[in-house]
Amino acid sequence: NRFLHYPLNESIIKALDVLNYTNPTQVQKEVIPLLLEGKDVIVKSQTGSGKTAAFGIPLCELVEWEERAPQALVLTPTRELATQIKEEIFNIGRYKRIKVEALFGKSSYQSQVKNLKQRTHIVVATPGRLFDHIERGSIDLRKIKTVIIDEADEMFAMGFIEQVEQILKELPKKRTTALFSATMPKAVKSLSENILKKPQYVEI
Ligand code: AMP
Repeated sequence: NRFLHYPLNESIIKALDVLNYTNPTQVQKEVIPLLLEGKDVIVKSQTGSGKTAAFGIPLCELVEWEERAPQALVLTPTRELATQIKEEIFNIGRYKRIKVEALFGKSSYQSQVKNLKQRTHIVVATPGRLFDHIERGSIDLRKIKTVIIDEADEMFAMGFIEQVEQILKELPKKRTTALFSATMPKAVKSLSENILKKPQYVEI
């Protein structure tokens, strides 16, 4: 398994074996080492390139199991994407027993609050529902150290960018941020300039 070349815990490698991920895709080759080192990145890549695992693998590796409050946040525009990402992260993190919670609208607010009170390592959320949780004080963001903004161009098209910026203001300043987008319109470029620190560019 070529993922053995990365500094990844055995439990992650085992999960990748079970998923039959034996060779990293191009975007994974470029992005995994950068995120493991805590570098900010801008990634231009399409769905189907393996981008979910490109951030999912380093997130699962970086999470400290003992910590109870969420340590990583993935922002994504739709609940379908949130559900898919949650599933992929669950699969990658299953032997590390990583708890991943998806927050999106039109699903029970109460059960999300209840789950957030249990141990949650990684939160995958749509901006609107996460914002509700922040306003109601039902999520602790003080331990977040890695943030992924997925499908930033879609986020912009759907009018979520301001909410994303507001959410980022609530997060610890000392963190790693990665932005993924299939296209790079001006609004996405300027967002990335505002929120990333000396980012590395990856284009697939
Ligand atoms: P994505 O671009 O994240 O939507 O991923 C596209 C598909 O590729 C998904 O079905 C993944 O399960 C699969 N995939 C991701 N990484 C790998 C890999 N290294 N080897 C084989 N399949 C992969």
